[in-house]
Amino acid sequence: MAFDLAHSVVRWQLSHGRHHLPWQNTRDPYRVWLSEIMLQQTQVVTVLDYYQRFLDSFPNVATLASASLDDVLALWSGLGYYSRARNLHACAVQVAQRYDGQFPATALALQSLPGIGRSTAGAIAALCFHERVAILDGNVKRVLTRAIGFDADLAVARNEKALWDKATEMLPQSGLARSMPAYTQGMMDLGATVCLPKKPLCERCPLAQNCVAFLHGSAASYPVKTRKLKRTAQSLWLLWAEDKNRAVFLQKRPVPGVWAGLFCFALFDSRAELESAVGSHQLDRLQDIATVKHVLTHKDLYLHTVRLLTSAKQMASQDGQWFAEDQWPELGLPAPIRKMLGAGTSAPLGRDLAA
Ligand code: SF4
Repeated sequence: MAFDLAHSVVRWQLSHGRHHLPWQNTRDPYRVWLSEIMLQQTQVVTVLDYYQRFLDSFPNVATLASASLDDVLALWSGLGYYSRARNLHACAVQVAQRYDGQFPATALALQSLPGIGRSTAGAIAALCFHERVAILDGNVKRVLTRAIGFDADLAVARNEKALWDKATEMLPQSGLARSMPAYTQGMMDLGATVCLPKKPLCERCPLAQNCVAFLHGSAASYPVKTRKLKRTAQSLWLLWAEDKNRAVFLQKRPVPGVWAGLFCFALFDSRAELESAVGSHQLDRLQDIATVKHVLTHKDLYLHTVRLLTSAKQMASQDGQWFAEDQWPELGLPAPIRKMLGAGTSAPLGRDLAA
């Protein structure tokens, strides 16, 4: 990258960016998280009112966690996309229970919480904890693809990954980690107020001198995304049950459905279902692995994997089979499961794979 995009964005944010929104000027992860979730599919002007009402009712994560889901949904009423409210509540409960009421301070750990995807996790980690990690929501994708002339089709997962890599490369240098909040906010502000989808205000943009799209008069061509599929997202909980000899417990997936006919870790729609299948006597041995996003043609799967050292006897009530390590190469395994087993071959249980 010939020009120092990060430096330009940081300088611009400090002098021209937004500083007046109620969720700015704070490093409180609860407030930043709440605003990020609300802003995912809703305009700023609408969020302003809901944000304040939420804070009045639930001033911190503990009060939100102890509220009933019905109360949270009632307060959310009118904002739409109610899965966000359910995830918001579930996330607060997990922060209260798993993290003693404190949001974890890394994007990786934040991503293991319900409703927090990679970009939201990056925003919280960068804004609150100065972590050198990228965000890539719709607005930032537009700014970045135009600025660097990234014209690969983002409907293709590997291209999206390449853009994530670019976004990470272009962050402020590691010695300037203190710039992360201004940089992250600056990219959001540019996307929201300057690099607009239809008529970007290039004359006001700090990147104009080096922006590929501006120099070629081609802003309207970015970002490139050919397939306009109506995508959905689903969270699944996977139980990576393993015995002391490293055999794993797998179930054959029903047909039709996700990964039909393949062998997979036991799948659950929620952590509560997984815990109920495991039984209360094994709960303290559950070990959370980093959440991964798996892109299918029609939906994004957020795979929350929980590892458990157990035995055939303990899993006797579940349908499935045990497979020794030397049998894995012969099995039809979904790609993420194969990758996890491969990645886990040298990791003894008890070590945090996410670290
Ligand atoms: Fe967007 Fe124009 Fe700035 Fe390029 S110069 S990033 S097209 S606003």
